[in-house]
Amino acid sequence: MPYSICTTCGAQFAMTTTHPEHCPICEDERQYVGWNGQNWTTLDDLRVDHHTLIKTEEPGLIGIGIDPSFAIGQRALLVQALDGNILWDCIPLIDEAAIAAVAQQGCIKAIAISHPHYYTAMVEWSRAFGGIPIYLHAADRQWVMRPDPAIVFWEGDTYTLGAGLTLIRCGGHFPGGAVLHWAAGADGRGALLSGDILQVVADRRYVSFMYSYPNLIPLPVSAVRQIVAAVEPYPYDRIYGAWFERVVVADAQAAVARSAERYIKVIIDG
Ligand SMILES: [Zn+2]
Ligand SMILES: [Zn+2]
Repeated sequence: MPYSICTTCGAQFAMTTTHPEHCPICEDERQYVGWNGQNWTTLDDLRVDHHTLIKTEEPGLIGIGIDPSFAIGQRALLVQALDGNILWDCIPLIDEAAIAAVAQQGCIKAIAISHPHYYTAMVEWSRAFGGIPIYLHAADRQWVMRPDPAIVFWEGDTYTLGAGLTLIRCGGHFPGGAVLHWAAGADGRGALLSGDILQVVADRRYVSFMYSYPNLIPLPVSAVRQIVAAVEPYPYDRIYGAWFERVVVADAQAAVARSAERYIKVIIDG
């Protein structure tokens, strides 16, 4: 039996003789079990009818998604850096086209992931590039479904991955929820790669902050303030959310400020 992948959240599990009975990530109140019950696939089966989709987001940044959409539907981002490229967030599928596209950008040195919903096939991605380290915040270690020696649990509030690349723990959606600050992004004005820790919403001039997105469970005021305070010291003009096109293109620091202000006002005043 190959490694099982949950079709609802895309998490790949450790080797078992039969498919697991449960997906703890989906049974958690932040996610949901598929409406037809718990279902599984494998990487080989996924490759039959899905492929990766590569798009340039801006110079030095490519997005890697899955077509047609699978599980949560997020895209990963590959950030170019002189001292080694970083894959931010991850997806359940890896194929030859993705490996070639990543290799074409230069040496990849690590993977870092915002939160457990995007752990997906991180071990497959690491191994495809020689077992590169996977940086996860230690506060979320219980959600690792396929343990691997490549996983590095970082602790504390920030972690420097390379020059101008800083992991910032924001919490909120998950206790270890993190974003990646890319100082060289947006033509040197700085960018945040936010996963869904700061969620770029449909009008793209705002972000939002939720404990659960599918089940619409908001966060308390204190958590929103903590997220805003965590990113406040870092200059940025753009935010890349978790999906293709979910981008606050400019003036993103002001967008976060007005988003938090609006959100807190509604939560407090009703
Ligand atoms: Zn799942
Ligand atoms: Zn999530």
